[in-house]
Amino acid sequence: MKKNKIVVLGAGESGVGAAVLAQVKGHEVFVSDMSSIKDKYKQMLDEYGIAWEEGKHTAERIMDADEVVKSPGIPDTAPLIVALAEKGVPIISEIEFAGRYTDARMICITGSNGKTTTTLLTYHILKSAGLKVGLAGNVGQSLAYQVATCDYEYYVVELSSFQLDNMYDFKADIAVLLNITPDHLDRYDHKMENYIDAKFRITRNQTAEDAFIYWNDDPVINEKLRSLQLNSQVYPFSETPEPHSKAYMQDHKVVINTPDDVFTMEEDELALPGRHNLYNSLAAGISANLLHIEKEDIRRALSNFQAVEHRLEPVATVRGVRFINDSKATNVNSCWYALESMVTPVVLILGGKDKGNDYTEIEQLVHDKVKAIVCMGVDNSKLHAFFDGKVAHIEDAGSMQEAVTKAYAVAQAGDTVLLSPCCASFDLFTSYEDRGTQFKECVRNL
Ligand code: ADP
Repeated sequence: MKKNKIVVLGAGESGVGAAVLAQVKGHEVFVSDMSSIKDKYKQMLDEYGIAWEEGKHTAERIMDADEVVKSPGIPDTAPLIVALAEKGVPIISEIEFAGRYTDARMICITGSNGKTTTTLLTYHILKSAGLKVGLAGNVGQSLAYQVATCDYEYYVVELSSFQLDNMYDFKADIAVLLNITPDHLDRYDHKMENYIDAKFRITRNQTAEDAFIYWNDDPVINEKLRSLQLNSQVYPFSETPEPHSKAYMQDHKVVINTPDDVFTMEEDELALPGRHNLYNSLAAGISANLLHIEKEDIRRALSNFQAVEHRLEPVATVRGVRFINDSKATNVNSCWYALESMVTPVVLILGGKDKGNDYTEIEQLVHDKVKAIVCMGVDNSKLHAFFDGKVAHIEDAGSMQEAVTKAYAVAQAGDTVLLSPCCASFDLFTSYEDRGTQFKECVRNL
């Protein structure tokens, strides 16, 4: 293959992975990051003899690139990206770059919610069935790094809309689209249409040999499908049997129809609780069946999968009060699913950095299930404006310790205290992981 001058912008997991792959393939590589680069990544770049800079972008060197690999965190509106685009320098994503150097089969998963859970679940099924499979994308090591250093036959790849942007020739052998609800609209010109188009890029380049798995009950997906001509074989899934659905629930059984076979499994054997996780299990189950994994292996893996940290994660029961950590619920829709799966009265801890939330989506569930709300954020005014007068008890907390103490004080034996914030965490915490970890610590200290 031709040797090119490759510039990698952003030296996080995906950028460094792309740089390593480019170097291994003999390209001339330069990595540039406007912020400081983590020590472990600096070491890795040095180990591979890759030139890098941090805290600045040296324009001359970057503008001289034959091709630029851009990290998903850098928006298209960044001045340097605009200048590169104007000059006609191709700008691609790390996944696009990695895809050029592997023939492994790609199972790619996107959606507004449920990506990580479904990716880990699918990986778990494939791995426990003995396939040579890597886990990549937003979780674990970057795809590019694994392509450079491992020899997998399959990859399960979690793809955010940002990773799908800047993908052109990459193809998913199995593409999964879980759902589309408004998120990250600030990066899409505040146009839902642009965000939908980004998600649908997962079907790009698919042929009649490939599969597209999607949630049939999603109005946004269905609307878009009406105007699209897909080449792939489609596998819609839904909660109940519907005319086109290939996977659904019937008589408390999971049913999955693939061209060669029918797979069934008792619903109560599924490891993951909640309706949203049923969808995730169906999507993972279809992928596994399409890959001809033994039914017994699929059943076993779907039933022994361990809950994913910070996603409806049971923490402890303290004097009859259950505590559940759903810190990853950073938008209203994911909180909806958390509340929907609750079977006891709930004390809900929510709040944080609001991304333009509309709480009407959870209003009915809050009315039906929530006895008290603890608003945990620097600015709780929007929560009060919406929820005051709609729940029996509402109060404020300025830290996790205070939130857990107040929630526990108002909860009674048999209730559930649910952390499902609907918001990003950056006002009081460094990340959703930090928020969830602090929650668990506070609960364990009760
Ligand atoms: P993502 O990687 O897309 O952010 P996660 O698997 O990390 O998704 O889950 C994020 C949040 O969304 C969690 O609160 C989880 O309970 C909820 N969730 C998981 N699957 C779904 C789904 N299919 N639909 C809606 N919400 C979901």
